[in-house]
Amino acid sequence: MTLRQERRPGAGRLAPSPTGGLHVGHARSFLIAWLASRQAGGPVVLRIEDLDASRARPEAADSVLVDLRWLGLDWDEGPDVDGPFGPYIQSQRRTIYEESLNQLKAAELVYPCTCTRADIERAASAPHAEDEGPTYPGTCANRSAADAAGLGDRPFAWRFRVPAGPVAWDDLFLGTREIDPARIGGDFIVGRNGQGPAYQLAVVVDDAFMGIDQVIRGDDLVPSTPRQLLLYRAFGWTPPRFGHVPLVVGPDGRRLAKRDGSIKLSALRDAGVDPRRLVGSLAASLGAPSSTRSSPGDLISEFDLAEIPTSAWVASPAAWSDGL
Ligand code: GLU
Repeated sequence: MTLRQERRPGAGRLAPSPTGGLHVGHARSFLIAWLASRQAGGPVVLRIEDLDASRARPEAADSVLVDLRWLGLDWDEGPDVDGPFGPYIQSQRRTIYEESLNQLKAAELVYPCTCTRADIERAASAPHAEDEGPTYPGTCANRSAADAAGLGDRPFAWRFRVPAGPVAWDDLFLGTREIDPARIGGDFIVGRNGQGPAYQLAVVVDDAFMGIDQVIRGDDLVPSTPRQLLLYRAFGWTPPRFGHVPLVVGPDGRRLAKRDGSIKLSALRDAGVDPRRLVGSLAASLGAPSSTRSSPGDLISEFDLAEIPTSAWVASPAAWSDGL
């Protein structure tokens, strides 16, 4: 099978990881992605990103669908409605990732790496961005793909050879961005032997194969974008447009996380919150004309990515759950 890139103007995707229920921060990013795609007249794809077996919980995939529907979002393709580019659950797409990894092996763009996390920490000499871990020092980079056969039972990962130099893109939200992935993270993992693909590979293969035209997601994923752009280049595919929106913070100024049970959509649903009040607050946070209750569909015509404030949005739950 040869992977062929699809092109579908305006196509967008919602790509949740089923790791424990969506919160208001996810709701905002997904609402933005949905609005951008609906406004552009493209299809919306729902893809469940459940490759991280240690974190993904099967029942959480169902609750993601319930959360998104409660919010008033819909999709044209997804695990429950199917579509031309399915399956839409990553754990069911392993053959496609295997094929793409084989392409990278054949081109000697990946090599088998037997370093443990501790090896890399010890070898790291340069300071590193907090979330990114140390830059991989290239210990195994002299191996060829074929050397994997001689590793016997040793566990190893496939690392992508990152070329030197910055990677730039024109972010739909942040403007021109430039990151040098050789200096931040270095050669990155695209798969683990016996365990399948890593996020960076799977997401690129899926977005290309599903014809995604705009990838709109939280700005915690900015450091992934130059790596993904390198993979597009390696496969000879045209990348989608990327837009990274600021995450939502709680009243304490910290990023919303699963620890904030009160802002989980399931908790709001159980408490009888009207989702249109939440969407109304989210709409106001996006610079839309103020309205206490809105449905996502009401916002499509007025939506403007350029109107969204660049600073993090402080969620104040009273706006949607007061008076209950
Ligand atoms: N599944 C990823 C997450 O929930 C998002 C991946 C992406 O948007 O590229 O963090």
